[in-house]
Amino acid sequence: MKYRSSDDSTCISLRTRAGAVHHINRSVLSNKSGLFSTLLSLPQPHGCSSDALDVWEEDSQLCQLLGLMNGDPIHPASFHELSSLLELAEKWDCTELIHQIRNTSLLNPFIAKHPLQSFALARYFNWTEEAKRASEASLWLDFDDPINAGVIVNMSAEDSAALLGLREKRCGMFQHLLESPQRFPMANGPSYYCIACGRSSAQDSYWSSFKSALTTELCRRPSGVGVLTLLSGGATCLEAEVLWRASCSTVTCGAKRFDKRLTLQLIKACFDVLPVSI
Ligand SMILES: [Zn+2]
Repeated sequence: MKYRSSDDSTCISLRTRAGAVHHINRSVLSNKSGLFSTLLSLPQPHGCSSDALDVWEEDSQLCQLLGLMNGDPIHPASFHELSSLLELAEKWDCTELIHQIRNTSLLNPFIAKHPLQSFALARYFNWTEEAKRASEASLWLDFDDPINAGVIVNMSAEDSAALLGLREKRCGMFQHLLESPQRFPMANGPSYYCIACGRSSAQDSYWSSFKSALTTELCRRPSGVGVLTLLSGGATCLEAEVLWRASCSTVTCGAKRFDKRLTLQLIKACFDVLPVSI
């Protein structure tokens, strides 16, 4: 790169891909960018004819980065703008500015809207907390949606495996908890004991069907929004209706098999301990 600084020797001029020229204090640029620290310390070749240094960057990207170097508050309008800024900051070896971008929480506004992209970016920069929050937000996405599937396929194998693993872990753990004979002694044993008539009877399939419906719903919508709606009474399903109507098989008894309120509380307790992030 050949350049000649402007008449003001404390400033250096940078020309973008589109030809716009931006000026910045030479020592600020050198202090904030490892790349320019090295570049500006090198002896300049004779015969420089350019007034500005061509950096071949996009105008908006460069404006944001120079603003950040000058201590101006910046507000990326989109995730793309933020990721482009970080890309340039990394390219120019601006470690301190990357920390600053993180510390001022510039990624936070985009996590809910772009969980997958935010996750990949946070993992790339090793921002653990942001990656956790993005993984939690990703639970609301349908991974079979072509747009999301397209993003996932372009993620690193480790990142996509981490997000898929979180979903699998939630579903697997939920299923495991619902199958516990200790938590649901009335439902998970080979037989059940009816307190009303004092008799044991062979287990029926109602609970098994409901468990399966709950687990399937959590796998379909890993955020748990569907399961929670079922548990709160905001919706119902055939398997639940059958379960609540089930009664003791002893002809002379007919007592309700399940205490609806208690059973829903126990299921909710299972749901509440599921992992919500990687
Ligand atoms: Zn009974």
